[in-house]
Formats: sequence, structure tokens, C-alpha cells
Amino acid sequence: MPDLSFKGRLFIFTAPSGAGKTTIVRHLLDTFEELGFSISATTRIKRDHELNGKDYYFITPEKFREYIEEDQFVEWEEVYQGQFYGTLKSEVNRIWSLQKHVVFDIDVKGAERIKEIYTKQCMSVFVKPPSEKILIERLILRNTESEESLKKRVERVRSEMQFENRFDMVLVNDELPIALREVNHIIQTFIYGISQT
Ligand code: 5GP
Repeated sequence: MPDLSFKGRLFIFTAPSGAGKTTIVRHLLDTFEELGFSISATTRIKRDHELNGKDYYFITPEKFREYIEEDQFVEWEEVYQGQFYGTLKSEVNRIWSLQKHVVFDIDVKGAERIKEIYTKQCMSVFVKPPSEKILIERLILRNTESEESLKKRVERVRSEMQFENRFDMVLVNDELPIALREVNHIIQTFIYGISQT
């Protein structure tokens, strides 16, 4: 029987698209077995390397609307025009029932909303790229977007870069090994109140 009384911590990683937060989140999930990833629901098209039920729950706009009406989301956003993303309440409970702490990879507005709800249980981290220029170059190199979608993402990067002061911590992702060391430290300190460097 799962222990339903367990209420773990919540770690939110947010950033402008392409800042490297997904790499950081993957590293954490590989390093700490006590963390569980909050799989968001989205209406965007699945990319080739992604798996339904692992990276996202890929659902139709109709299903997404149904979940909104049934009040099944902790938060949801139309992150890009016509593309909806949301955190399901059932995800947080699923991860807590496994006795794990929850890790979110979400946009800045969703991150603020989750932080408002869970306050002290929750640590919000803004992953900051070294510069807007480098970030845009990374987005272009990633080559997963159509020209139109890339344009939307670049516009959004510009606005999201303004949000950094709204979170508990800013993690600069200039050199990845350094950022990964820092993030290990953040997790250990927040879960156990200790740091191992
Ligand atoms: P992508 O399409 O590149 O996977 O994600 C686009 C953006 O949506 C990223 O900033 C990602 O973190 C964010 N995102 C993913 N899931 C959620 C969610 O459940 N809620 C919100 N608000 N944003 C999300």
C-alpha cells in the first residue's frame, strides 16, 4: 500500500526555452532516485525522440479542455499560441505516493503559480543562459522547430529573460559541469539540510 501521508518537497526548474533546464532535470533524475518527474499534459505534437507517458502525456485539445472543466490541473498555460501545457494534480499525488520529491520542468508563469500554491515546501530555480544571444543560437542549433515556431520561441525567450528575480534561486548555465555541481548541492541542501561538495 502506498503511504498517502507522505508530502515531499517540490523542485521547480524554469527558464527561457533552450537555457538547458531539461538537461539539468534529466541529470537530477539520473542522480537522485528520491526524485520523480512531473509529466505534464500537452497538446503540442510529439517530437521523434519523445515518448508518450514519459516526456509528456500527449493529448488532444478536446481532452485538455475536459481536464480544465474537471479541475484536474494544478496549473495550465497556453505557452505558445494553440499549444497548451498543464500540470495534473494526479501527477503530484502519483509521485508523493512513491515517497518521492517532485521535479517540474515548466514555463515561468506555471512556475510562479506552483510556488504560490506550495510555498515553503517548494524550491523554485530559474536556469539562466549566459546570454540571450547564446540562447537563441542554441535554439537554432537544436533544430527541432519549424521557422514559424522558432520565431515564436525567440520572441518568448526575450520576454522570459525578464522573470529571473521572481524565483528562489538563479542557476547560471554557462558551463554545464559547474551548473550540475551547483544543482546537486541545491537538492541535497533542500532535502536533507546538508551539502556534500
Ligand atoms: P517544449 O515544447 O519545448 O517541451 O516546452 C515548452 C515550454 O513549456 C517549456 O518552457 C516547458 O518547460 C513548458 N512546460 C512544460 N510543461 C509545462 C506545464 O505543465 N505547465 C507549464 N506552465 N509549462 C510547461
